[in-house]
Amino acid sequence: MLLTITTTHQPATDLGYLLHKHPDRCQAFATNFGQASVFYPEASTEQCTAALLLDIDPVSLVRGKSKSSGERTLEQYVNDRPYVASSFLSVAIAEVFRTALSGHCQNLPELVNTAIPLTVSLPVLPCRGGESFLRQLFEPLGYEVTAQALTLDEQFPDWGNSPYFAVSLQNTIRLSDLLSHLYVLMPVLDDDKHYWVGDDEVEKLLRHGEGWLGNHPERERIANRYLRKQRRLTRMALEQLIAEDEADLDSKDMIQAQEEEAIEQKISLNQQRIETVVAKLKQLGAKRVVDLGCGEGKLLRSLLKENCFEQITGVDVSYRALEIAKERLNRDYLSARQQDSLQLIQGSLTYRDDRLNGYDAATLIEVIEHLDLNRLAAMERVVFEFARPKSVIMTTPNIEYNIRFEGLPNGKLRHRDHRFEWTRAEFQDWAQGVAVRFGYTVEFDGIGSDDTEVGSPTQMAVFAIDC
Ligand code: SAH
Repeated sequence: MLLTITTTHQPATDLGYLLHKHPDRCQAFATNFGQASVFYPEASTEQCTAALLLDIDPVSLVRGKSKSSGERTLEQYVNDRPYVASSFLSVAIAEVFRTALSGHCQNLPELVNTAIPLTVSLPVLPCRGGESFLRQLFEPLGYEVTAQALTLDEQFPDWGNSPYFAVSLQNTIRLSDLLSHLYVLMPVLDDDKHYWVGDDEVEKLLRHGEGWLGNHPERERIANRYLRKQRRLTRMALEQLIAEDEADLDSKDMIQAQEEEAIEQKISLNQQRIETVVAKLKQLGAKRVVDLGCGEGKLLRSLLKENCFEQITGVDVSYRALEIAKERLNRDYLSARQQDSLQLIQGSLTYRDDRLNGYDAATLIEVIEHLDLNRLAAMERVVFEFARPKSVIMTTPNIEYNIRFEGLPNGKLRHRDHRFEWTRAEFQDWAQGVAVRFGYTVEFDGIGSDDTEVGSPTQMAVFAIDC
């Protein structure tokens, strides 16, 4: 079984530092199921490839088992395990690349935290659930997936394809994240594990899934398969994943949204924002609208009051926010027509999600500043490349205006969960880059009183597909 990892990040031989394996050496490691070797088929400044070769000894696998576990059948000795990527490869990654997997590198601490171009090649990956499941697992994480189905037997084409695929995965990503994704997802695709799965497997899943599994659209299926369909363990894992996800956003967001409102209250900026956005959506003739990061549903509520919107969808990563939205909207006694047009979806803007496709317009009202800067690129692809609505309306605070807010100490952002607030130049620079990269036009406007010196408190960008 072979796994290769290639980078073109220069100098490419830095991959050796990240993996803690010298590119000039071939090293071997004993595992309790065979031997793992690491070597570099190529190692130049431009391109470097590290290979992990796993030589599984099928006899040693059987030897460890007690006779009481059943009669030894031929299948125990002759099977696909030595030739395919499976939980054996995950364990080998954890043992051989332990430091890289945990995201440490004394020599190049900055590079560990840098997303670099990486390509993984897995010549034989069992994909139970087919190519579509393979894509559902890796594409939301930003991978470009190339998969070629392998025939069952070249001499008998009539037998059709096997469950195995030759797979290449390409992404610009931190090496430790890539190794974590492989560690968790290979056994999930294989739908098998070579060892007993107990409570400590939940801890492993949460540790290696940190930062990506909580929001992954397939998190239920991943947890279920990873934990060998043991309902109790799967429930334990999902409860913690959901709890962490929400604790992260809810506790901060709910209380702090009120703080932000208090600061902006004087000019009831929130109301002006909503009115401006609704007017813009009408002007654009949008019928199907998706509000990304809808929060407690303030915009949704205004959209429902209009007759011209046929489909109104709210999306938020926070269950709690969606629950509040649902409760508030129900209190408005929606008509049957309004109920039919409304949909609330839990999902994250940084993971590709086909449920976001097919809209005339998407809105991101005071949302981008809640995303970590290094997740913005993921959101850009999800919204502009994959969901690709005809128009996108985005608003975000104009930091230049903050000096005009009385309750806001100098240099502080309007909301504790804001990861950044931008000047007009910064926002326009970024938005223009997005428009060029994804084939949109963009126009800017201010919302709220227009101060000659510092502009308006809220800045808005309206993107339209450039056709
Ligand atoms: N648009 C709403 C809420 C803005 S607050 C309004 O104007 O009132 C920001 C919202 O973005 C929060 O509800 C938060 O849960 C949501 N959010 C933050 N990160 C997200 C992500 N990655 N995916 C989806 N929603 C996210």
